[in-house]
Amino acid sequence: MTLELIQIPCLTDNYTVLGHETETGETFCIDAPDARPILSTLAEKNWKLTHLFITHHHKDHVQGLDQLKKQFNCKVYGPTKESDKIIGLDELLIEGDTFNFAGHNVSIIETPGHTLGHICYHLPDDRLLFSGDTLFVGGCGRLFEGTPADMWSSLSKLMALPGETTFYCGHEYTLSNVEFAMKLEPNNIDLQTRLHEVREKRAANQPTVPSTIENELKTNPFLRSSSQELRANLKLETASDEAVFTQVRHLKDQG
Ligand SMILES: [Zn+2]
Repeated sequence: MTLELIQIPCLTDNYTVLGHETETGETFCIDAPDARPILSTLAEKNWKLTHLFITHHHKDHVQGLDQLKKQFNCKVYGPTKESDKIIGLDELLIEGDTFNFAGHNVSIIETPGHTLGHICYHLPDDRLLFSGDTLFVGGCGRLFEGTPADMWSSLSKLMALPGETTFYCGHEYTLSNVEFAMKLEPNNIDLQTRLHEVREKRAANQPTVPSTIENELKTNPFLRSSSQELRANLKLETASDEAVFTQVRHLKDQG
């Protein structure tokens, strides 16, 4: 089995990913920010969309849903807890649900915080995660609906995945995230290296997504509540991990 992945930039800073299993010819798409670039990539590759995996209800993740479904009659998967907000879902998913895509196991991780019903799609045997607007490269989603405690608990689930897990997220926000992180942990050598790499990639108009869980654990300040340097800079040496996360999120929202 071979899963071919193509990341497609959409709108201003959104990404979607097509996943194509060459043996069966089945193809999934992660969210539907804009049908046009998705349709043109499918046509270029001569792939037929069979599955659409929705992470959450925000418009910039679902506004191409209707057109893709009409064109391909694909099956649309999405969160049970947002089924009242998303029109056109065929399969409703909750925490721990598993299903099969073209011979690949998919399991659902509920990650409330950015929205209350947000889900991530995890392909454990492929070491792949599609994190939507929960975990970004160098950052995490803004808390539009959930509490900091919700998001910390959600991120903790993703932090527990194997370090070599590659993850794709919904937006290209990395440069601003890493520049923010440098204010909190200027002496983190992994972060200094990352800032250099990210600046080079963005200057060349290249994506910084995907990343791995291992890279995030080393450099993403929203996952680094245990860092002594970060805690000292926030004057939160003895606070809980959740309290440290909450302060990092608060500071990023102000910047
Ligand atoms: Zn969103």
